[in-house]
Amino acid sequence: MRPLSYTQISTYQTCPLSYKLQYVDGLEPEAKWYFSFGDTLHKCAGYFFRQRLPGYPSLDELLDFYHHSWCSDGWPSPEDEAREKAYGEHILREFWRIHTRDFRVPLATERMFITDIQGVKLRGFIDRIDKLDSGRLAIVDYKSNQQLFTRDYVEGSLQLTLYQMACEQLWDMPVERLTLYHLRTNTPVSSGPRTREQLDEAARLVVTVAENIAAQRFPATENQYCPCDFPQYCPYYRHQYGEPVPDRSKPEPLRGVDIAAAVERYARLLSDRKDIDNQIEELRDLLVQYCQVEGLNRVYGPEHAVTFRMVERKAYDQDAVKAILEPLGLWHQVLQLDPKKLGDLLKSGDIPPDVQQALVAATEVASTHAQLWVRDLKKDREE
Ligand code: SF4
Repeated sequence: MRPLSYTQISTYQTCPLSYKLQYVDGLEPEAKWYFSFGDTLHKCAGYFFRQRLPGYPSLDELLDFYHHSWCSDGWPSPEDEAREKAYGEHILREFWRIHTRDFRVPLATERMFITDIQGVKLRGFIDRIDKLDSGRLAIVDYKSNQQLFTRDYVEGSLQLTLYQMACEQLWDMPVERLTLYHLRTNTPVSSGPRTREQLDEAARLVVTVAENIAAQRFPATENQYCPCDFPQYCPYYRHQYGEPVPDRSKPEPLRGVDIAAAVERYARLLSDRKDIDNQIEELRDLLVQYCQVEGLNRVYGPEHAVTFRMVERKAYDQDAVKAILEPLGLWHQVLQLDPKKLGDLLKSGDIPPDVQQALVAATEVASTHAQLWVRDLKKDREE
């Protein structure tokens, strides 16, 4: 298996099918302006810190490099491109002003690495690695996201965790600080190094992803970025974006079926049922109240009668039952696993990670059944 990168792992985690389409089938995502913009800023930050004499480039050199590196792919209009290009220049002026104040030659920039995580090869590029006065390492990764990330986000960043692993393997020096540098606002957000447990957990995740890829497990998983650039290959979106399937290649019962009309009718009936259920509930309350107030067990309409009775539902007193059955050695026969309680226990974080993993591994598919969810596309479009 070829080495995995953080981007590939993250793509697999977001949607395994999207991973397959890009990295196994080799489909190319569409060019997007925000990637073009981010890549250019990235290159400029790398250029600024790349080691040279006497130290760092002049502002003019940095801006020249920016204009030469500018990528025009994926912009919606020339006006948008010109506006963002001017904004990028503003960002870089500020970047230059901030980093010339306390410039230090980094230990490495744009450092390529290939590392081994329990037999899985991981490769990547680390934007910048500094050696701190303490003798420890600081890792910096540049980001051009719209929003500034939170500290929690940085503390949970798998990318930084993997980079810490790689650096500690490459240089055999401990990492002291992990930083995501927000280029748009020139803001570094840092966290301390990952603990041994966090590193082990990340290693397990990498191994699990590698195993799933090797086993060709590529289910489509809907997420906040859907539809991606390949909706015509996705079972969630193919019906909307793909080529219609000709009737002759469908099995007999599906030929000539107007599935769009079936969708609308199903959604309408469900909505009607909700209304009807509400009306039934209201009438039920009214009839019960009437019978109770009037002391009646039955009320009559011209064609129907409705009978009312209070029905008791008995429940066992658990302590009493236990006291009876336990001495006979029969208590365990009436106990059974409560999946909800087990789920709550797993979420609570009260159990050690290895026990948690063992419990997750102990799940199996008990049965499958079809389930349908209705989505209001009109409402989606309005939002
Ligand atoms: S549209 Fe969404 S679910 Fe479908 S392949 Fe793309 S990312 Fe996955």
